[in-house]
Amino acid sequence: MLYWINGIEYREADRLGAASFLRFGKIFQTKEMLQLLFGKYINRYYLRYAPTLIIGLAALILVDYMQLIVPELYKMVINGINSGAVEYGGETLAFDMNFLLDRICLPMIFVILTMVVGRFVWRVCFFGSGIKVETDLRSRMFAHCEELSQSYYQDSKVGNLMSYFTNDLETVQDCFGSGVLMFCDALFLGLLAVIKMARMNLLLTLFSLIPMALLMASGAIVGRYMMKKWDYRQKVTADLSDFAQESFSGIAVIKAFVKETKELMAFRRLNRKNEDANVDYVKASTLLNITVTAFVESVICIILGYGGWLVHEGVFNAGQLVEFIGYFTAIVWPIMAVSQLIEMQSRGKASLGRITELLDTKPEMVDKPDVEDVPELRGGIEFRDLTFRYPGGEFDVLKNVSFTIKPGENVGIIGRTGSGKTTLVDLLLRTYNVPDGTIFLDGHDINSLPIKTVRKYAAYVPQDNFLFSDTIENNISFATDGGNFQAIETAAKNADVHENITGFGLGYKTVLGERGVTVSGGQKQRISIARALMKDAAILILDDSVSAVDVSTEKVILDNLKKNRAGKTTILIAHRITTVEGMDKIIFIDDGKIAAVGTHAELIDTCRDYREMVELQRLNDAGDSTVSAESADSAADKKGGDL
Ligand code: ADP
Repeated sequence: MLYWINGIEYREADRLGAASFLRFGKIFQTKEMLQLLFGKYINRYYLRYAPTLIIGLAALILVDYMQLIVPELYKMVINGINSGAVEYGGETLAFDMNFLLDRICLPMIFVILTMVVGRFVWRVCFFGSGIKVETDLRSRMFAHCEELSQSYYQDSKVGNLMSYFTNDLETVQDCFGSGVLMFCDALFLGLLAVIKMARMNLLLTLFSLIPMALLMASGAIVGRYMMKKWDYRQKVTADLSDFAQESFSGIAVIKAFVKETKELMAFRRLNRKNEDANVDYVKASTLLNITVTAFVESVICIILGYGGWLVHEGVFNAGQLVEFIGYFTAIVWPIMAVSQLIEMQSRGKASLGRITELLDTKPEMVDKPDVEDVPELRGGIEFRDLTFRYPGGEFDVLKNVSFTIKPGENVGIIGRTGSGKTTLVDLLLRTYNVPDGTIFLDGHDINSLPIKTVRKYAAYVPQDNFLFSDTIENNISFATDGGNFQAIETAAKNADVHENITGFGLGYKTVLGERGVTVSGGQKQRISIARALMKDAAILILDDSVSAVDVSTEKVILDNLKKNRAGKTTILIAHRITTVEGMDKIIFIDDGKIAAVGTHAELIDTCRDYREMVELQRLNDAGDSTVSAESADSAADKKGGDL
């Protein structure tokens, strides 16, 4: 039977010995250190950067070896000063100027030069590969985040996500480069120095190592405590950045409601929490450092006391004591490195844990294994008895929805706020999963088509007309990755925004602020429409996309759509009857159910609710001809409908 202890294979015969080794291993937490260095999503980089790491390691060992020559030189100088002669290579030489230059200074210069070059090489190798790992992991995380479903972004906060990309990645990078380095340095330099010390005097070496063993044990305990503290600190930092990000996005609302003080107080509370978490962490880390220093100093005390006595007894000479102290000084850094490694592994494991959690999150929207691509989609749509509930939702948002749209039809979707209009088009774009046999595109079950194909043949103007912080030109040509300026201009003209754009100082080269704040709501809507028109897709979906434009602009846009999209399917979600009354077909949706489907005239004749809605909107429009479309909607809302 096999046992695995700290990565080492043991057989049954070794069981008893292995068990005590395991206890020893637990104290030193070697396994946990290795878990940090060889964690999930990190292993592959050790293979990829193996040549660089091996060169770095060789340079490190060389530096460590050179470093341990220096105490021997100390010994020779001290003994030379004391007795005027030096033991060198088995013979006794006079301690004179020639000896100092040839046997002390020249080797010292060689040691210094080798160490300078060696240190440069290992730093470049270790830290360089750490940075490469960070860069690669960041790209991987970004690509993964792009695959994640919309529901992930509804549940996770942007600020939190951002901290994965900044704080956590930096910590992992630190641990990859420096963690490997410290581990190897502690191992090689520590081992070499201990061997040299043991060769000089075994008992003195054992005395010196007792406090070190205690240090490792206490370091392991403090390390575990620090990991929790770091994890908490990262969470609090993420909350703080979340809050700041949300406040800056909603600054207009905060100002309009004069809630600056309230927000500031809330921010201060989070900031204080962040401060407390940081102070707690620094306290733990200081405790660890002070403990290390105390142990190191206690060892010096032992060496001076017991070593001095050995000199007194004639077991050691003064030069040998200095040499022994030199070796111990050389292992102080590896010991410090171990303490830093414990601290780093605490942080690194917590951060790597968060990154692993992100990378382990499975995208909900993935192609089924048997999907088949199609050469073309012409825009025929069928919903067949679809009932849909949002993941984690408590009620069905759509109930037994059935309707068909022929390729090339202009369709209006109308209904109260919350009746399920946006959900309908989201499902069409495969933002959420639907049961098989409920949505068809040109007769193909939507689940049998690759998601990318479905989206390739659709252009979408979402309610949140998100624009990138880029030029207007690049925003409009987003779907086509740049392209012909003539086409960009034509799209802008069809969306009736060309004149607004040419009115800006830099025209199409005008850079929009974050989320397009430098343009008005109506201009934003029309730039978003132009972006969708540029795609010239078989299906165009506009979700409440003309709500912020006046009636005459709306008419221009609708006329242009009719003219330019002949033969292609257009779906327009709207609040105003006037927006959709000229459409080939109107789908009237009420509380998730299809209440009626037909032309405007047909619905007036056959659907009482539709007729009432039309009357209500007419009354509102007639009541105040100057009232804005939005206020008419809200008035209708108050009377029991938003139309
Ligand atoms: P409409 O576009 O007609 O205003 P929606 O399709 O946006 O309506 O919403 C229909 C219903 O689905 C509403 O009750 C809304 O609260 C709910 N809903 C919308 N999005 C989600 C979501 N991501 N998770 C759960 N429920 C949702």
